[in-house]
Formats: sequence, structure tokens, C-alpha cells
Amino acid sequence: MNSRRIITCLMVPGSLVFLLSMAVWHWTAQPELLQTFLPFWPYVVLALGVLLGWRYQRSRLLLTLLVLTLSQPQLVEFLPLHMITFSLAVISIILPLNLLWLAFSSERHLLSLATTSRLIVIAGQGGLIWLAYHFYAQQSWAILRMNLFSHPLFDFMASLPLGTMLPLAIAMFVATFLSLLIALLWRPTMERGAQVWMLVSVFLAQLTTGDEALFYGATAVLILIVALLEASHSMAFRDELTGLGSRRALNEYLQRLSGCYTLAMVDIDHFKRVNDSHGHDIGDQVLKMVAGCLAKVKGGGKAFRYGGEEFTVVFSGKQRDHVLPYLEELRIDISRSVFSLRSKPRPKKKPKKIASQSTKPKTLKVTVSMGVAEHLERKQTAAQVVKVADIALYRAKDGGRNKIC
Ligand code: GH3
Ligand code: MG
Ligand code: MG
Repeated sequence: MNSRRIITCLMVPGSLVFLLSMAVWHWTAQPELLQTFLPFWPYVVLALGVLLGWRYQRSRLLLTLLVLTLSQPQLVEFLPLHMITFSLAVISIILPLNLLWLAFSSERHLLSLATTSRLIVIAGQGGLIWLAYHFYAQQSWAILRMNLFSHPLFDFMASLPLGTMLPLAIAMFVATFLSLLIALLWRPTMERGAQVWMLVSVFLAQLTTGDEALFYGATAVLILIVALLEASHSMAFRDELTGLGSRRALNEYLQRLSGCYTLAMVDIDHFKRVNDSHGHDIGDQVLKMVAGCLAKVKGGGKAFRYGGEEFTVVFSGKQRDHVLPYLEELRIDISRSVFSLRSKPRPKKKPKKIASQSTKPKTLKVTVSMGVAEHLERKQTAAQVVKVADIALYRAKDGGRNKIC
């Protein structure tokens, strides 16, 4: 279990947004301007959420916003008092379940059948609450009992006083919280971490009333929005296959460097052969494993995926002579690594031979060549440094590969 990743996903951005919101709300010396603005805040956040959900085509975000909006007590204010109490109690029970369902559902197109069905399920719950009210609060269970629902469970439910709904709602929130937490431990993602904090905010919104409840509701939405923006950012700046910084991240990083730095272009040797003899999937696995080695570079280096089977390692503030031992260590590490490949057993015509072979895990060795360039002159652009490193890389290839030039 990668505990560092779990903690990062749990903390960024969910807990940061949550704690910041808590601090703003409980700030005793709130400036007047902030006090004037706070009542509008939930509506601003909701509008922003809808806009981003539509722009980024995130049906789950939009449906979650709908669920959160429909659970607002203000919406049932027009109903008779006893029905308001009943509806809010039921909503507090089904709200976490809806959030859990949406958290685990897959992303679908806004205008798809799946999204429409989900919309119907959400809207249908309003009708069910109305029905439940008539059968439960008006003690009309007898009608059901006479028919197909003649089950002791319904007698039990009819005997429940309204007050027991609160512990039930808390139990639902706790169960949802634990489910999201387990999912986060199982597969830590920023979205899961954000969902945990979103639920905490929704829970606080349920425990409070008026402006405070609205503010916590807005915090829940804000957490989802920031998580969406974070995810989009990392999509652009992180290479999906290897997890390293992408070419765009490298360009931005190089732009920020001004003084001395050293850059190495790293290229896997004869990678085409790996693809040709083992297939593209195995090629991808090798890329991931080489990236894993490069990510561990010492001496303050930072590894990026330049594109294809090429990587770049940048050492900020370091001269060529200083970083060569670290690059040499990387080259040796990669050349000595025996990559064991996950092979998917495929039924073939000669099963006996395959069975005897499949007991041994497939292994593979690769080497890399590197071209190193140093940025010293102020006039030299990052593109020029990359070009010099590329020329050096060609020399390493011509010199027999598995070399640094
Ligand atoms: P050299 O030693 O001269 O670098 O030879 P090479 O075979 O590594 O270089 P070449 O440029 O001929 O081939 C690079 C190959 O990398 C071709 C391409 O199919 C493969 N490749 C590029 N990106 C990916 C990827 O994301 N996944 C996989 N599996 N293969 C990729
Ligand atoms: Mg290449
Ligand atoms: Mg290559």
C-alpha cells in the first residue's frame, strides 16, 4: 500500500479547501466585505460548478450538484410542517447513499441514456418520499399490509418513531464515509480523497441550519470543483502511462530555470524490437519500468517523459561534471534491471508447450543511451540546450548504445 500517495490524495486538495472554508466561517473578525459576500457564496459556487460540469462534460459532478441542491431544506419549506420534518429526515438518510452511488458510478456523456436514467432515479426519489410520507407519517401501512407487502419488516418500519431516523441517517453517513475511505485505500486518487471531504462537509451541512448549512454545502461543491481543476491540470502536466511529468511540464520547468542547469536526453535502445517481438502492451510495461528507474534519479534530478521512448532528466543548478555520476548510476541500474513482465495467458493451439513455458515469468533487459548538455550562457534557450543534448544522444547511439555522451 502506497501510504504517501494515500495521504497526498486525502490531503490535496480536499482537506485544504475544507480547512480553509472552516477558517473563513469561524473567523471571528470577519471583515465587513466578507460578511456581505458570504450569503451569495453558495450560489456563486453552485453556478461555477454547473458551468465547469457542463464545460468539462462531467455528468457525475452535475448530478452530484443536483442531489446536493435538492437536499436543501429551503426547497421543502412550502410543505406542511409535519411533512417538512418527515421529508428532511428521509433526505438525510438517502443523501449519503446517493452521493456514494454517484461517487462509484462511471463518467458518462451528458446526453447519454445512462445520465438520463440517473436523472430519473434522482427525481424519482422525490416521488418515493411523497409516497412514503403518506404510508408512514399518516399511518397508512394497513393498506400495504393487506397487499403484497405483508411482511414483518413493514410492521417494524411502521412502528419506528420519526426520531429513530436521525441515528439511521448518521449510520448511513458513517457507512458512506467508510466506503469512500476504503476505496481511497484500495486505489488512491485525488477524486476519492476529495469525495471523502465533500461528504464531511455535507454531513456538517446536515447538522447545521440556515446560512451555516448553506456554507458547508458550498464547501462540499467547492471541494469537487477544485478536485476537477486539479485533475485537469495533472492530465495536462502528467504523463498518463508513466506518471512522470509530461513534455508540457518539462517546457514549463525549463522556462522557469535561468542560471546553470544540466539536461540529459534519455532514449531506450532498440525499443522498436521490444514492441515488435513482445507486443505494444509489453512495450508499455517496459516504458513504465524505465520511468520508475528514472524517477529515482539522485543528485536533485527531475525526470520527464519527452515523448515516445524518450525521457529527459534535468538537474537544476548543476554542472555537467557534477551530474555525470548520477546519470551513470541510472544507466547501470537500467541495464542491470531484469524486468519481469506480466504475461496474460492466451489459449493457443499447442496448450502443453504453453503450459510448461508459462510457469517461468517472462523477463526482459533493456539499455538506454543518454546525451547530456549544459546550460551556461544566458543567451542559450532551452530548445537549444535540448538540441545539443539530442546531438550528443545520436553520438551515444552511433558509439554502440548503452552509453552517455
Ligand atoms: P534506437 O536504439 O535507435 O533508439 O532504436 P529504437 O527502436 O528505440 O528507436 P525507434 O525510434 O526506431 O523506435 C521507437 C519505437 O518506440 C517506435 C514506437 O512504436 C515506440 N513507441 C513510442 N511510443 C510508445 C508507447 O507509448 N508505447 C509503446 N509500447 N511503444 C512506443
Ligand atoms: Mg527515440
Ligand atoms: Mg530508442
